[in-house]
Amino acid sequence: MPPRNWRAEPKAPPNLDAPLKARILVVDDDERNAFAAVEALSELGHELVVARSGEEALKRLLAEEFALILLDLHMPGMDGYETAALIRSRKRTQHTPIVFLTAIFRDEAHIFQAYSAGAVDVVFKPIDPFILKAKVQVFTDLYLKTKEVERQSAYQQWLLDEHARVKAEKARAEKALRRTEARQDAILRSLPVVFHSRRPEPPFATLFVSDGVEQITGFAPERFTEQADFGTSRIHPDDLALVVERVSAATRTGHYSVEFRWLCADGQYRILQDQGVLAPGEEGEPREIFGVILDATDRKSLEEQLAQARKMEAVGQLTGGVAHDFNNLLTVVLGNIDMLATRQEEEARRMRRIDAVRQAAERGRDLTGQLLAFSRRQQLSPITLDVNRLIGDFAPLMRQAVGEAVTLELELAAEPLKTHVDATQLETALLNLAVNARDAMPDGGTLTIRTGREAGPGPLGRVSIEVRDTGVGMSEEVRERVFEPFFTTKDVGKGSGLGLSQVYGFVQQSEGEVRLESAVGAGTAFHLLLPASTADAEAPRRDPRTDAVVGGTEKILLVEDDATVLALTLDVLTGLGYQVTTATNAAEALQAIQSDMEIDLLFTDVIMPGGVSGLNLARAARELRPNLRVLLTSGFVGEDRMSEGREFPLLDKPYETAALASTLRKLLDRPERKSRKRASAAAE
Ligand code: ADP
Ligand code: MG
Repeated sequence: MPPRNWRAEPKAPPNLDAPLKARILVVDDDERNAFAAVEALSELGHELVVARSGEEALKRLLAEEFALILLDLHMPGMDGYETAALIRSRKRTQHTPIVFLTAIFRDEAHIFQAYSAGAVDVVFKPIDPFILKAKVQVFTDLYLKTKEVERQSAYQQWLLDEHARVKAEKARAEKALRRTEARQDAILRSLPVVFHSRRPEPPFATLFVSDGVEQITGFAPERFTEQADFGTSRIHPDDLALVVERVSAATRTGHYSVEFRWLCADGQYRILQDQGVLAPGEEGEPREIFGVILDATDRKSLEEQLAQARKMEAVGQLTGGVAHDFNNLLTVVLGNIDMLATRQEEEARRMRRIDAVRQAAERGRDLTGQLLAFSRRQQLSPITLDVNRLIGDFAPLMRQAVGEAVTLELELAAEPLKTHVDATQLETALLNLAVNARDAMPDGGTLTIRTGREAGPGPLGRVSIEVRDTGVGMSEEVRERVFEPFFTTKDVGKGSGLGLSQVYGFVQQSEGEVRLESAVGAGTAFHLLLPASTADAEAPRRDPRTDAVVGGTEKILLVEDDATVLALTLDVLTGLGYQVTTATNAAEALQAIQSDMEIDLLFTDVIMPGGVSGLNLARAARELRPNLRVLLTSGFVGEDRMSEGREFPLLDKPYETAALASTLRKLLDRPERKSRKRASAAAE
């Protein structure tokens, strides 16, 4: 077997044009006889060789091929018979015709002997040149014809061999080429790359595009090659001018590179990166662009995410530091409270001071909490919850936060949407978003909260919460910075710039994602995407303080003689969402009660100057408005008054905001009082 890479070397073809010659051997010991023969044959144009003995003849016959042998029968030494016998015995010469030349033996017996020795003819001496010439010509013609046939058949064989060789060579080359092509194809197909060639002038008609284009765009290559402007027709309108400019420039610069959005078959834009070179047209052919297209969509969004994450990481470190300083500051504030408590000062003043310091400290603590949430170092206590339920329960507070000018609409998915997050943090995030929305809609509008599901990442997908407003929206500069801590466009004292930082930090720490959609004049939508969970929803372990703080929107008449306490209580009540009217004494309060002003509840201090106590005020108020709900409060209540005031609920001073809030709710949520008093009065 030939080796694998064996190749048949090409052979030179037999030369059909070379003149064919017949060589004749004249064997005669007599010089004159030999000469006479040569003389007679010379005009035939053949090569004549003379041998002077049988031995010499045999020697010549070993070296050369002869068409005919003219052999003298009578020679000294080896005679013609012997020589003929030897010639016949040799393979090379066994078929070479021998013509005997004889002068002596003319009898039949000798002639018979000559033929049996292998002669084909006998010519008698003296030679008749005409006869010799005619006889010799018969044999040389035959010889030349045979030679010609041999040569032709050798040529035919050569042609056949050559054809077979070339065919084998071609087959081998084709096989190798096919293998190379298959290999290249496989490589090209596996790359997220498209090769293309196109006209260098708009609309850059596609001449060729590799199969990979279907994987990226969803369209088969034919769509591109059959419709000249198909490629450009689906470029994003905002990117088209740039593409035309860049690619056209290749006719001057020789190359181009451009990135653009392209509308794929699935209706989504993908970001394509296209770069290529201008190939000069060969021999009058038009010039062509050869290029490569890459799908840069994933790379782009990864780059963006990375940049955003890096930025946030840096700011996160910064805020971690700020939080540390803040805690130091709080230590100082709290230390001062102790000092205040040990110093001799008027009681009321000291208490107000302590209150103020505590409020500051609490505000500081909240701020730190937000910062920590942002820098993702906050201890979260995640539970599995249904966001629909959480939002449903939390909606009243959000409604309060946004005020009456804004309509809160809930579009909650019908199925439960479970996720594993910190409930309080999620509520805080929703509240931050709601407050921002309110600020963005100073003349009112709609705040919509929509929940749903989104596919991937992960087998369970994600739960989505969309918080959308119809407010002023944001410019691009604002949009890029909103999640940065301390970034605010609001006036000093109005915004901390930490609301969205909390939202971002919380969602990141919960392994979710925040998406923002906003444009000036077109409103804003935040999408919180949280990993979905299948576990059973747990009851939130609520901070009792948060738990109790449920406000309302009812109208409250607040009566309090101490201006500072009045201001503080007013803050607390409005903070809870109530609409509050104030009075600093009973007379003022009565006036309000006598008017046609709407009042759901009277909240009054018991001990007040001016003759009328809170208790009496309450009784008078009940006379005027039998359905009025009443809540008394007092720092000190004597036994007698206590028993007297049994008919009204009482809240001891000092009270926690939570206690006030829950007491108010309890009273306000009670069904309307039966006008027991009036009914009994009428019976009297
Ligand atoms: P703050 O509300 O204290 O300013 P945030 O972090 O909550 O801080 O918000 C940062 C900034 O983002 C706001 O000052 C505002 O410019 C912008 N912003 C936030 N939410 C909205 C919204 N819904 N509509 C328009 N702009 C908003
Ligand atoms: Mg805010």
